[in-house]
Amino acid sequence: MAKEPVKVKELAAGIRAKDFSEVVLGYSEPEALQEAGRCTQCKNPACISGCPVGIDIKKFIKQVTEKDYKAAYFTIREKNDFPSICGRVCPAEYQCRKACIFTKKNELFASEKAINIHFLERFVGDHGMNNSLETPVKKDGSLSKIKVAVVGSGPAGLCCAGELARQGVKVVIFEGLHKSGGVLRYGIPPFRLPRNILDFEIDYLKKLGVEIVPNFIIGKTKTLDELFSEGYAAIFLGLGAGVPGFMGIKGENLCNVYSANEFLTRVNLMSAYKFPEFHTPVNIGKGMIVIGGGNTAMDAARAALRLQNMNKLPANTSIVYRRTEIEMPARRLEIAHAKEEGVKFQFLIQPVEFIGDENGFVKKMKCLKCELGEPDSSGRRRPVPIKGSEFEMDCDVAVIAVGLEANQVLTSVTPQLKTDKYKDVIVDPETMETSIKGVFAGGDIVGGEGTVIEAMGMAKKASRAIIEYIKRRGNVQKN
Ligand code: FAD
Ligand code: SF4
Repeated sequence: MAKEPVKVKELAAGIRAKDFSEVVLGYSEPEALQEAGRCTQCKNPACISGCPVGIDIKKFIKQVTEKDYKAAYFTIREKNDFPSICGRVCPAEYQCRKACIFTKKNELFASEKAINIHFLERFVGDHGMNNSLETPVKKDGSLSKIKVAVVGSGPAGLCCAGELARQGVKVVIFEGLHKSGGVLRYGIPPFRLPRNILDFEIDYLKKLGVEIVPNFIIGKTKTLDELFSEGYAAIFLGLGAGVPGFMGIKGENLCNVYSANEFLTRVNLMSAYKFPEFHTPVNIGKGMIVIGGGNTAMDAARAALRLQNMNKLPANTSIVYRRTEIEMPARRLEIAHAKEEGVKFQFLIQPVEFIGDENGFVKKMKCLKCELGEPDSSGRRRPVPIKGSEFEMDCDVAVIAVGLEANQVLTSVTPQLKTDKYKDVIVDPETMETSIKGVFAGGDIVGGEGTVIEAMGMAKKASRAIIEYIKRRGNVQKN
């Protein structure tokens, strides 16, 4: 019989819900060895096919059992540039762990018994970071005079930049915000991804020679044509999906109704959780409601609850979702953590209107109860509002987290850049090249909101195609 999984240590819910310290503390060496020892080293390791970038999971786990953490680190780095980040944020229960032999075929999410691949990845990634293990740089001299522009510094942009820089290409990243990292900086709170980890990865890229230009919006400050005329041989677009979706209901423009993007950007990027030490405030209420069921909703609700605690208000934050828990796209771990911390979950409820007070501040949310109907195109059962079931909920701050869309700042001024009906950039799936020669794209701007590892997988593919494109065009330096 399989040995019991090694539980990862976490800060106690009562302590962690009062600040933004990291919740999951990771495995110690003996714990990692014990967990790695549970892996049966399957002849046909299904876990690998469950990883969107095909990390050789079986091999790296074996190397952990042999205490060869350096080798394990390089095994992971062959496919994944940021193991410490992915070990913390990857939805492993839908990916590698779900494919692990210990998960039964009919289970919706990974079994509790599945190997904790993500915690092992984190252990190995942190070992690499703490011991300054660096992936060997294989500079190709013929590329030394080549410049490539990367637009956006989220996981896609950072990954593409690293891949190109390691081969000797001069990379300049243009980032619209004042700090780099994309969602890893402005969306995911530090209690899930401490900023020293992100900063470490970005500093490493800078050491490789990558230049990052902040506060620079491509499509406004400069166009793609201008970048080409400045001598960039190719351009990678990692623009993300940074525009918040709304429900289109009455009262959404009332004061204290936030988009999750604005709420999380204030809290994470602008450090509103340290106000007044940092100057950007965020409004906190006595009854906070977050609408949605994805990772963004969990992050917003857990941040809201912490802010209530830090401001000595009663911890009263609810998630309102129109389906049930099983259909929630959020990571199971985040749902469990949110519940432990005291976030309340209210299912099968659809908001239909926000009601304001005489000063234009939200005070109530009118809702309809729902029941589940037939599955929709996502395969999840559709929420069907029940006629005549209206009721009102008290709410003095609402945060809307119902999805993200493509930002059109660049595509709207670049008509040659073909987009689909969602305004996502269309690419050749083999090369990630867009409709403009020499312009490649990856991450959430291709195919909509995805995951960090998927964004990095696309960026890696694009980086290979960019090198081929540059060499094919022959504008490399002849040795
Ligand atoms: P982004 O991370 O969005 O980065 C795009 C960057 O491009 C931004 O910095 C933006 O400012 C910049 N930019 C855009 N347009 C321009 C322009 N014209 N000029 C210059 N710069 C520009 N995924 C997971 O795997 N696990 C999770 O736990 C998880 N949690 C999430 C929580 C939240 C709150 C959100 C919003 C998403 C989460 N995701 C998670 C999804 C994941 O973060 C994204 O799939 C991933 O960040 C996409 O990477 P990207 O590089 O394509 O885009
Ligand atoms: Fe180990 Fe699970 Fe992969 Fe088998 S499927 S090699 S048990 S992680």
